[in-house]
Amino acid sequence: MPSHDTASTALLQRPRQVERLVTGRATQDGAGVKLTRVLTHDLQHRLDPFLMLDAFGSDEAADYIAGFPDHPHRGFETVTYMIAGRMRHRDSAGHEGLLSNGGVQWMTAGRGLIHSELPEQEEGRMEGFQLWLNLPARDKMVDPSYRDIPAEALPHWQAPGVDVTVIAGQAGSGDAAVAGAVQRPHTEPVYLDVHLEPGAVFEQPLPPGHHAFVYVYRGEAQVGGTLVARQRMAILAQDAAADGVRLAAGDAPAKALLIAGRPLREPIAQYGPFVMNSHEQIFQAVEDFRAGRFG
Ligand code: MN
Repeated sequence: MPSHDTASTALLQRPRQVERLVTGRATQDGAGVKLTRVLTHDLQHRLDPFLMLDAFGSDEAADYIAGFPDHPHRGFETVTYMIAGRMRHRDSAGHEGLLSNGGVQWMTAGRGLIHSELPEQEEGRMEGFQLWLNLPARDKMVDPSYRDIPAEALPHWQAPGVDVTVIAGQAGSGDAAVAGAVQRPHTEPVYLDVHLEPGAVFEQPLPPGHHAFVYVYRGEAQVGGTLVARQRMAILAQDAAADGVRLAAGDAPAKALLIAGRPLREPIAQYGPFVMNSHEQIFQAVEDFRAGRFG
């Protein structure tokens, strides 16, 4: 087993521990895309500001080919991270883009849009994640916008045995910190794709108030004092004295998403693809959609 000198690079005094391990729920969405809902509705308060995390991954075209035809969103942001495959999106405002291997699409739905997300391949592997990040009440009705970030434009933080794709927030700390492709005020999300070689360790400082979780998608990883298996989400405990999270690979390589953000602590009212603060706002969203006011 390769050894990486971690003692000399230990950064954290008190890494967070795992509060709970979660197994995702197999489901279908869109026009019949098979996926695993990792962050489910019942965890929206515990993991505020995050509303949902879906993991999709299949070599079978039948599992993904129908895609996600025209559908609306209002009140939050969707972050799609493609590990493998090609997906084209189009929206009611005339935006269009191709999301492919390793790229990220950061979409701010704001007051609303209608879009489609459709596979642009008829065979081969399709794998990735879609995360929903809530918007603060005052930003829920902002103009919708998109950012497509190709793989080569995503920053990386690297150390021996460690390669971190920095999607949002920052990786590392101090002079060695690497800023992510996206920075958001209010919720200050951190979204890292951490790749570890056997025996490697990665330590990430986190504000103690951030809600945080790790989703292991290759191999297995030690998170704090807990071994987290593949396709498990580890919810990290809130601990006012903790200074970050420590991920370590065992005898095999591991890949995991580390996601954290500052909770909004505002009411959450969700009806399908609309996430607002009150039932009245949801009623308004449905009415606006029916009346064709989503563009
Ligand atoms: Mn969508």
